[in-house]
Amino acid sequence: MIIIMLGAPGTGKGTVAAILSKELQIPAVSSGDIFRKAIQEKTELGKEVAEILEKGTLVPDELTIKVIEARLNEPDLADGVILDGFPRTIAQAEELESFLGKQQKQVNMAINLETPKEELIERVINRRICSNSDCKTVFNLKLAPPKIDGVCDKCGSPLIQRKDDNEEVMSNRLDAYFKETAPIVDFYKDRGVLESFEVSEKIGRMGTDVASELIEKIRG
Ligand code: AMP
Repeated sequence: MIIIMLGAPGTGKGTVAAILSKELQIPAVSSGDIFRKAIQEKTELGKEVAEILEKGTLVPDELTIKVIEARLNEPDLADGVILDGFPRTIAQAEELESFLGKQQKQVNMAINLETPKEELIERVINRRICSNSDCKTVFNLKLAPPKIDGVCDKCGSPLIQRKDDNEEVMSNRLDAYFKETAPIVDFYKDRGVLESFEVSEKIGRMGTDVASELIEKIRG
């Protein structure tokens, strides 16, 4: 099964992807995580994309597609994947469709999370992530704080704040989302695979609630 996660930064894509991955036993792959790891390890790719991530703009399609397709060709993803953060442009969505088509595969479900803009900024500023790359549990200082300040509930590792999780960079990330990524929603709607959810404090629905609803639906 191939699932993709759509939604602006801060909607909870990573949270939903992590729960679905665990419950459905499908690996989750985050393009942002791949880039951040490359930056941390100072690889050639890392050097190429570091400044882009710092600014909150998009990595060029050609490079992103090359990196993601190489990852999709790895054997652990042969039976399915949950893609978090890819595709992010129509060109990426079209390329993914043709890449999968060659293997008689297609995107089976595109999960689109929608959150009011003012909540997104608040969520991103308060987001803290477990520094352990095998855990990466996401906390929110206001909505889902850790039991002990600065420490992951699950594995006890220190929590970190992403460098791009600040108001200034977030403004570029939101611009990129609304200009480049939002049109993809219609792309998947046209293909009949779109599942949209409102995620908002206002209606009391968080990423964890969406994940439960989806698991019920998928398991039928
Ligand atoms: P994320 O962790 O999904 O918020 O991604 C962090 C950053 O990585 C983004 O702000 C972009 O600079 C870059 N990035 C991640 N995925 C993509 C993609 N599919 N296309 C272009 N840039 C991306």
